[in-house]
Amino acid sequence: MLDFLTDQLLLKRGFYDESGRPRLTTGTIVFGALLRSLAVIIVGFVVWHYGGVELSIPISLALLWGYAVYPAYRQFVVFSEVSDVIKEEILCSSCRHFNPSGQFCQLYDEHVRPDHIPCGGDDWEPS
Ligand code: SF4
Repeated sequence: MLDFLTDQLLLKRGFYDESGRPRLTTGTIVFGALLRSLAVIIVGFVVWHYGGVELSIPISLALLWGYAVYPAYRQFVVFSEVSDVIKEEILCSSCRHFNPSGQFCQLYDEHVRPDHIPCGGDDWEPS
């Protein structure tokens, strides 16, 4: 959980993390955008307290776009590109045990990657 929070707050790049798990899913993208929006709201209140509302609103709007919304959009683009590769290239995409939004195998409870199919193809069943 701490890894997810730091990844999203620091906007770490790369689809897979150091352990090979996908950093980006639809859930993490949405939750990350909400988390960063919360951080922007807190910063906005601090700026409002010290600089007034005329400074707080433009800074908050700029941060909301640049730190919360646009990074989420870019993450979704990366997620879509990798999802397309997975759909086209690996066996799991046509298997009934595959969860496309989380990109993991529900039978093995593991994430699948182009270079890692948890069952090796043995438990594939048509979807
Ligand atoms: S059972 Fe095998 S083929 Fe099906 S999703 Fe899991 S790892 Fe992929």
